[in-house]
Amino acid sequence: MRDNAGSMDYEGFYASILTMLDTLDDGIILISANRLVEYMNRVAEEIFSPMRKGDKDATFIEIVRDYECDSLLRKCIETGQQQAGLIKIRLNNKLLQVNVVPDARKQHYIVVIKDITQRQHLEDIRRDMIANISHEFRTPITSIKLLSETLISQGNIDQPLEQDLLKKICLEADKLAQMTNDLTELAAVQSGRAQLNWVEIDISRMAAVVIERLAAQARMGGVKVNVEVETGLPKITGDSARIESVLMNLVTNAIKFTASGGSILLRVTKDVNDILVSVSDTGIGISAEDLLRIFERFYKVDKSRSGVGSGLGLAISKHIILAHEGRIWAKSEEGRGSTFYFTLPLDKR
Ligand code: ADP
Repeated sequence: MRDNAGSMDYEGFYASILTMLDTLDDGIILISANRLVEYMNRVAEEIFSPMRKGDKDATFIEIVRDYECDSLLRKCIETGQQQAGLIKIRLNNKLLQVNVVPDARKQHYIVVIKDITQRQHLEDIRRDMIANISHEFRTPITSIKLLSETLISQGNIDQPLEQDLLKKICLEADKLAQMTNDLTELAAVQSGRAQLNWVEIDISRMAAVVIERLAAQARMGGVKVNVEVETGLPKITGDSARIESVLMNLVTNAIKFTASGGSILLRVTKDVNDILVSVSDTGIGISAEDLLRIFERFYKVDKSRSGVGSGLGLAISKHIILAHEGRIWAKSEEGRGSTFYFTLPLDKR
């Protein structure tokens, strides 16, 4: 606080302090020795309900409405020592790091609140992701270890058996490579920073290519695949390899989750402003509860089929379609089949 020309008077200084407090990322509450709230900054008001204007008699517990938070203040008043705690506020589900500090004269108490809800949420996501990756990698790694140990321990192994074990090792290594590729692709597309390679796409041709590539797999599964493509569809613009991977994923899933004797229909039509692609199957279907989660990474309805896929395909597909400003969704009836849809805007670029 200066007092010569251009000086800041006490009120000016006080107003500046209040402005500064309101620009902080932490919540600040000033409490009197009899636990009345004397001041809350903007963040504190956002975390708890705003203090009513002119309400001079609100106690700390009335504002925070949390027993644990209040007991930190009581302890600080009792001991004159700084108190800290991690507090989950039930009312708004926020996770707060709370520090209560007495002022120099122990006449006021300052509560400093850090809202770590989002940080904790990101931390949970990271932990789940690591747990899921470890789980998915464990099975092929265990298989490779067992197979190679068999090769090592059997001294004079006959050649056909040796070939068989080596082929199995190769297959498991392929699974690991596929998973690593999927994880890299997911990281790229979900960050929104993936470099999309925009080209003109003939979606009718792409549909035909995908069906041709998966024909053998469908035949082996005893599933009939039909294609219906509206004639004269306009070309669209997009990342051809990535859109093709979405189609591949949807049709592969349809084949995978449809029993022998079932059928699949791939339809491509023009909506008002979009190309609409749908992949219907007469397979096992998905319950309403699972349908809400299948686009999440690693989500698999039947965990025991973990060898079948990584559970990343639909998450990758979702982010690819979103990057093209399209929509992707699914409808299903358990035991009767599913239809996956996606749109791609016609006037993109
Ligand atoms: P993956 O197929 O590798 O497990 P996806 O992300 O492609 O992973 O699919 C996630 C889950 O959604 C699958 O494990 C399966 O439970 C379910 N699902 C996907 N497509 C279908 C379908 N056409 N019919 C039934 N369930 C499906």
